[in-house]
Amino acid sequence: MARYTDAVCRQCRREGQKLFLKGEKCHTVKCPQVSRGTAPGQHGDGRKKVSEYGIQLRAKQKTKRFYGVLEKQFSTYFTMATKRKGIAGENLLVILESRLDNVVYRMGLASSRPEARQLVTHNHFKVNGKNANIPSMILREGDVIELKEKSRSGEKFKLIAETCGARPVPAWIDMDKEKYTGKILRLPTRDEIDLDVEEHLIVELYSK
Ligand code: SF4
Repeated sequence: MARYTDAVCRQCRREGQKLFLKGEKCHTVKCPQVSRGTAPGQHGDGRKKVSEYGIQLRAKQKTKRFYGVLEKQFSTYFTMATKRKGIAGENLLVILESRLDNVVYRMGLASSRPEARQLVTHNHFKVNGKNANIPSMILREGDVIELKEKSRSGEKFKLIAETCGARPVPAWIDMDKEKYTGKILRLPTRDEIDLDVEEHLIVELYSK
């Protein structure tokens, strides 16, 4: 499975925004996006005029990095988004938000999306009663996600539940914290997705 291998915090500094890729560290003063705040590299704090293309590209890169998706898959999601009813940019974000790894993160069962992806790959979850170990699985209304019985007693999940359990679960997921189970009540709306991006820029980029 292809994955991004560059230093994680550089991605946030490049996008000028917290992408929450490192779990608890992201909420402390050790977060380099807070302590340094400039783009990585020798000229990271210099001012450069950014072209229209550059602005659109940054919007796409930020979104890809936020959800941990590589180019080919992102492009596939964009095609899916254009085929759905409604606004393509919003559809794209809803599709990304419906990925199994993101939903596990939203349920508070992982401290970051990268950790959620790893936990899913390590076969800790079921969807609708069946094994689900593909992080990119797109969930639908009515799907039920559960942490497997045998994984619930592990120290790892007890710790995760303690540290991440305080994070609010979005209203589109009905979470039973006692049973480590969540049901997708409906797909999220744009205002429920906390990614600060102008998604129409991504649509414009792909429309060139
Ligand atoms: Fe981004 Fe988290 Fe690193 Fe801060 S600590 S720069 S939010 S990955």
